[in-house]
Amino acid sequence: MTSPHSLPTLKRVAVCGGTHGNEMSGIFLAKHWVQDPSELQRDTFHATPFLGNPHAIEKGVRYIERDLNRTFSAEFLNLKDSDIGSYEVQRAWEVNQIFGPKGSSQAYDFMFDLHNTTSNMGTCLIVDSEHCLLPMHMCNYIQKHYTRSSCPIYFYQLPGEETYGINSVAKAGIALELGPQPQGVLRADLLAQMRSIMACALDFIDLFNKGMLFPAFEIDAHKVVQRIDYPRYPDGEISAVVHPDLQDKDFLPLKPGDPIFQTVNGEDILYEGADTTYPAFINEAAYYEKKVAFVQTEKRMFSLPALQKNF
Ligand SMILES: [Zn+2]
Repeated sequence: MTSPHSLPTLKRVAVCGGTHGNEMSGIFLAKHWVQDPSELQRDTFHATPFLGNPHAIEKGVRYIERDLNRTFSAEFLNLKDSDIGSYEVQRAWEVNQIFGPKGSSQAYDFMFDLHNTTSNMGTCLIVDSEHCLLPMHMCNYIQKHYTRSSCPIYFYQLPGEETYGINSVAKAGIALELGPQPQGVLRADLLAQMRSIMACALDFIDLFNKGMLFPAFEIDAHKVVQRIDYPRYPDGEISAVVHPDLQDKDFLPLKPGDPIFQTVNGEDILYEGADTTYPAFINEAAYYEKKVAFVQTEKRMFSLPALQKNF
């Protein structure tokens, strides 16, 4: 048997709610934890809660000037003082100062980022890619111990694409993406699910820090293939809506010839891809401005090696 991969213990852990100011589960939890962080404490560490975009949270909007969760790339983090125009670029700098700097040895060991989606994605776990060994072991642990719902894994990073999300400031991280929940709304069921998954994830870190050996495993995950825009009129206006047969079918197979959009006249527009795909973020409210009707993913099995902390 080969020896497990080893990684340092996780001492500095952060939990961010409100990276998007209208995704209420994480905002509600982070505000509570700032007042009473006892739920975030374990024997070997305690996690630090914080609010990602305080100004947007105050206003109940996703962001003030630009999407904070697309602002942690070198393009923005390396701007000179005089170039910093927007609130979110300033906030990205602050977060990078406190929890990073991104890519440095001083950066936090792990960051959770709590999101909601208007799509029917259930209790989804978002990881950069299959190469993130510790986050993948955490996902596997959550899937085995949090059994009230399935927790599909979603890799957002396209090949060669730089990480740009808030948790990329830390050495490792995952995002929770729970839905469906309307923007600005708190649903008790999703709130309880997010809270339980966080507790489970913190237990995993504690066990890892205490030296538990996590064996090798195989796991299914969804990898982004491409983002699909709405059909549009020549002037750029949307010309069709998500098809009723596709609505709420996140992570279910979509086969060539299945309907994906419906025009105002009731005409169906069909999926013309060659292979079965697994759509996610179907009809996400925040993605209209990003020109994304849904994200096409492929479902694959990934093999991960065993993991244990450095002794
Ligand atoms: Zn979000």
